[in-house]
Amino acid sequence: MINEKFFLPLPFRMKTRKKIVMKKLLLLITVSCLWTINATAVGVKPGSVKTLVDSCGFFPQLSHDGQWLLYSPTEGTSLMLKNLTTGVVTTVADKGYPGFDAIIGNDGKVYYVTQQRKKNGLVYRTGHCYDPATGKDKVVLKAQHGRVQPLQAAHGVVINGERQVYRSSKQVGSWAYTRGDVLYLVDGPGTVRALQPVKDSNGYLWAALSPDGTKVLFEAASKGLFVCDLNGEIIADLGEFLMPCWYNDDYIIAMSNAGNLRLNGSRIWLLSVNGEVYKPISDQDERAVQPMVAGNKVVYSVIYSGQVKQVELDMLPAAPQLLASGKGKTEKVKNAANKPDAPRVFINPGHGGHDSDDRHVPTWVIGEQDTLHYYESNSNLTKGLALKEILENKGYETAISRKTNTTEDDLDLFEIVSLAANSGADVFFSIHSNATGIEKRVNFPLGLYRGWDGKPAVEGSMKLSQLVMKHLYGNELAVWTNNQRSNGDWSFYDWGYKVGLGVLRFNKLPGFLSEGSFHDYLPERERLLNDTYCWLEAWNQSLGFDEYFGRKKQFKNGVIAGTVRWSDIPRYDEDTRQFAEDRLLPINGALLRLYNGRGALSRVYKVDNRDNGVYVFTNLEPDKYRLELYYGGENRYITTKVKANKNQTSYKNLKLSKDQKPKK
Ligand SMILES: [Zn+2]
Repeated sequence: MINEKFFLPLPFRMKTRKKIVMKKLLLLITVSCLWTINATAVGVKPGSVKTLVDSCGFFPQLSHDGQWLLYSPTEGTSLMLKNLTTGVVTTVADKGYPGFDAIIGNDGKVYYVTQQRKKNGLVYRTGHCYDPATGKDKVVLKAQHGRVQPLQAAHGVVINGERQVYRSSKQVGSWAYTRGDVLYLVDGPGTVRALQPVKDSNGYLWAALSPDGTKVLFEAASKGLFVCDLNGEIIADLGEFLMPCWYNDDYIIAMSNAGNLRLNGSRIWLLSVNGEVYKPISDQDERAVQPMVAGNKVVYSVIYSGQVKQVELDMLPAAPQLLASGKGKTEKVKNAANKPDAPRVFINPGHGGHDSDDRHVPTWVIGEQDTLHYYESNSNLTKGLALKEILENKGYETAISRKTNTTEDDLDLFEIVSLAANSGADVFFSIHSNATGIEKRVNFPLGLYRGWDGKPAVEGSMKLSQLVMKHLYGNELAVWTNNQRSNGDWSFYDWGYKVGLGVLRFNKLPGFLSEGSFHDYLPERERLLNDTYCWLEAWNQSLGFDEYFGRKKQFKNGVIAGTVRWSDIPRYDEDTRQFAEDRLLPINGALLRLYNGRGALSRVYKVDNRDNGVYVFTNLEPDKYRLELYYGGENRYITTKVKANKNQTSYKNLKLSKDQKPKK
C-alpha cells in the first residue's frame, strides 16, 4: 500500500536477478512489514496521490513549478504537454518519434529530440526547444548522426550530441552523462572528465549530478545503482534499481527491477544515499515505472495502462536551481567532427545465464549444472559476438548488451532498451532461436518487429527484418520446413492490446528480434552446437544489414559452407522427426581441404563429432577454389569446384556413399 511506512534493512541489496530477486524482494517486504521502526517521517504525504493522466502516458516529466506535465504515448510517436491547472493537453510534436527522452528544463521549456531515418538507413537526430508560454517550437541543434540526448545541467539544459552540443545558455554549469561504460562529468567551463567507477559493467545509464553538485548517481548495467564522488570513488552501492533521480542531496527515487519474467515487481522506491532507507512509495500491485522528481513531487507511469500518477513526499526537497541567463549556443564536440558516419548496430544476444528463462535442451548427460548442453543463451551469445566482429570488419560500429553468459549480465529488458537508446545506434537487433515446445517439429527463420503485421511501430523495422530473414533462409546447411517470415509482435502474440515483446517496448530504434531457427528440431540443435554454424548465421545476418544500409559491395571477402552426409546411412536419434536431408547421417570427423585458384592449400576444416556435418570457411578472398573431402585418414573421396564471391555465401553440400572407394 502507498501509505505503508517501513524501512528495509541494509542487507537488502538486490544482487541476484529475476525470479530470485523477486522472491527475495517479496520475502524482505514481508519480513520488514513486521518491523515497526518509527524514524523521522520520510515517505508519502497521506492523501497526496493523484492521477494526472488516465492512459497512454509514459516517461512523465513534471515542470519544476508543478504546473506542466510532459508525457509520451506508448510508441513515442508524439509528445504531449498537459497544463495541470486547466487540464488542457497540447501536442508538442508528432513527427520523428519525439517521445520518451524529452525533458522540461529548469527554465520551463520543453527540450526534445526527433529522429529521421535517411535513405542509407542512418538515423539522424535533431534537438528542439518548445516554449509552453508562447507555443513556439524551434530547432536548436541540427540533425546529426549518433546519440542526441536532452539533459538537465546545474543551471540550464544541454542537448548532448556526439558531434555538436547545445547549451541553453553560456553558463549551464556542470552536468553528467554516460556513453558505453564510461561516465562523463562536464564542469562549468566545459572540461570533460571520463570516469569508470565500476568495472566490467555492460554499460552505464542515467547519470545525474546531485543538486549540490558533489555526487554522481548512475546505474551500471549488470552491477546496480551507485553513487560516486566527482573522482569516481564509490560512496553508495544501492542494489538493483533503475532510472534513478535525485530527490535531494541525501535521497534518491528509483524503480525496482522487474526482471525478464514480467513479474509484478516494478515499483517506485525512496532510497537514502547512506543505505539506511529502502522504502517503496508506489503500491505493490501497481507496476509503476519511469519515475521523475520535481520539488517534493514524484511522478511515474503505470505499465500497460499508461496512467500517470503523482505522489508528494513528506520531506524537504532540493533547493530550486539558479538559472543562468543569456542565449543558447551550439558548439562542436572536439575530435568528433571528422568521424565518418558508419552505420551503428546495437546487438542484443538474447537472454543470458543458464537459468530458468534459458531454453535448455540436453543432448548428452554430462552432469548437473552442466553448461555444455544446448542452451539458447550459449548460441545466442556465440552469434552475437560473431556478428559484432563481422560488422566491425565490415566498417560498422557496434554496441552489445552482453559479452558473457552469466545470471548477472542477463539484463532487465528495460535496461537493454535504455542501453540501445544510449548507444545512438541506427538499428536494434535481438538474437534468439525458437522452440515449438511441442511434439510437432518445425524449422524456419522468424523475424518479429514491434507493431501489427505489415504496420511496424517504428518505420524501417519490417524492412530490416525481411532483409535479414531472407538471408537466414538462404542458409542451405539448414533444412527448413516452412518459409521464412516476418511478423508484427502485436499480431503474433495474443498477450493483450499492443503488449508484444518486452525488449521492443519503449524501443524506438528501427529493429526487430530474430528467431533464427528452431532449436528443438533436433538436427538443427546439433548444428547450433557448432560455433562456426552460429558464425554462419551471424554472417548471413550481416548480409541483411549490408542490404539495409546499402553496403552490399563494400566488403571484399566471401564464405564457402556446407554439410557432409552419408547418402545411404540413415540418421538415428531418439527423436525421429527429421525432414529431407536431415534424415541422412552426418559424417562426423570428415576433413575438408580448400585449395585456392593457384592450387595452394588455403584452409582445412575438421568436421566435429556432434552429428551436424557442418563445415564453414570464413573470410575467403574471392577466387575459384578446389574443395576436397577426406575421411578415415588420408583417403580422398570427393574433389569439387566452388567459387567464393565478394560478400556472399557459396553453399556446397556433399554426400558420400558407404560403398564409395577413395580416389587415387
Ligand atoms: Zn530466446
